[in-house]
Amino acid sequence: MSESVLVVGGGLVGALIALRLAEAGLPVRVLDRDHPGAESSSAGAGILAAQSEAIESGPILELGLASRALHATLNQELIGLTGGGSGYRQNGTLIPTTEGDHADHLAAHLWQRTRGLRLESLDASATRALAPGLHARFTSGVFFPEDASVDPPKLMASAIEAAARKGVQFEHGATVREVMQSSGRVTGVRTDHATRSAEVVVLCAGAWSEQVAGALDDSQQIRPARGQLAELALSPVPFGPVLFAGGGYLLPRSDGRVCVGSTMEMVGFARGTTAAGIRTLLDRAIDAVPALGDAEVTRTWSSFRPRSPDGLPFVGGLGVHGLYVAAGHHRSGILLAPITAEIVRDLIVDGRRHRLLDAIAPERFRKHRPG
Ligand SMILES: Cc1cc2nc3c(=O)[nH]c(=O)nc-3n(C[C@H](O)[C@H](O)[C@H](O)COP(=O)(O)OP(=O)(O)OC[C@H]3O[C@@H](n4cnc5c(N)ncnc54)[C@H](O)[C@@H]3O)c2cc1C
Repeated sequence: MSESVLVVGGGLVGALIALRLAEAGLPVRVLDRDHPGAESSSAGAGILAAQSEAIESGPILELGLASRALHATLNQELIGLTGGGSGYRQNGTLIPTTEGDHADHLAAHLWQRTRGLRLESLDASATRALAPGLHARFTSGVFFPEDASVDPPKLMASAIEAAARKGVQFEHGATVREVMQSSGRVTGVRTDHATRSAEVVVLCAGAWSEQVAGALDDSQQIRPARGQLAELALSPVPFGPVLFAGGGYLLPRSDGRVCVGSTMEMVGFARGTTAAGIRTLLDRAIDAVPALGDAEVTRTWSSFRPRSPDGLPFVGGLGVHGLYVAAGHHRSGILLAPITAEIVRDLIVDGRRHRLLDAIAPERFRKHRPG
């Protein structure tokens, strides 16, 4: 059987790439070793923090801004195609500050205004209006009104359904072991059960991408970075924007749930949550918003961010005709998936290189080696 395009991995990155390629008229099949959406893309918090997490200008800020804008239109597109949408909300992100640290937080982000971006320095009453439940020591804040959030399981389910409606075939339980090539061209993949032919292969296996032989080289490392999360329920939630406080975040959902994140642990692929990890999250949450001490703990879980050596994704061709990668999005894969899908579609369909591709090109480490 000859497939035109095989996408390895059905997380958000793989599903949106498949959707865009199918829209361009290519026959696309997504192979997932478990089921599409099984891993990080359904587990992440879903903050689209293009601005509040940016402490310098550069390609990652530009990619984040472009992708944040695409999320708003993607939500409408998914509602139109599936009725479901992504749970997109432009509720902004807020860094609550104290008298002692407000100036520092503001200075760390004020440069964004020269780039034409909106951010607001809030006094006590404006901070309290957005987040009445904040601890009294927070007498000010830095607010990013255009940052947003999505509900990852909802987004993931809608993306899969939309892609399927455009003709993408999803295959569960298909573990890809190796990418096959001959005379500088990709020829397909080898799974546990069969060899599958393809003219184009796109590797989107998240934190597991290195385990697929024949694609990445030694300079293109992707390691798992475990993150633990907790979900609380409190009605009403006493804050509107996503809060960044105490080294973590609190993300309010529209239905009274609050997602509390997250740890960053290099523990390989050890699944699960730990007492110390969850304690850290809950301590931070209650410290920032004391009323959360009365909230019900409804869920705890963990997943694996795909982390490259510089924290930026690998997106682009792998030096073999027809072989591409889109993986290693680390802490920002939900934010960056829409722009990644457009970049990969432009490369595969039109041979067009995005102006920011050099910063995330897979060969960026190799290029700087002596000799
Ligand atoms: C705790 C936590 C919080 C996060 N919060 C945010 C956030 O707020 N905002 C944000 O932008 N990002 C966030 N992220 C990061 C984001 O979730 C990831 O960067 C993103 O989901 C990666 O998407 P992906 O499609 O590359 O990988 P995944 O979603 O992990 O998908 C990879 C897929 O590949 C499949 N697969 C693996 N190996 C094989 C194989 N050999 N053959 C076939 N299939 C295979 C897997 O089954 C899986 O379905 C968070 C991550 C974590 C862990």
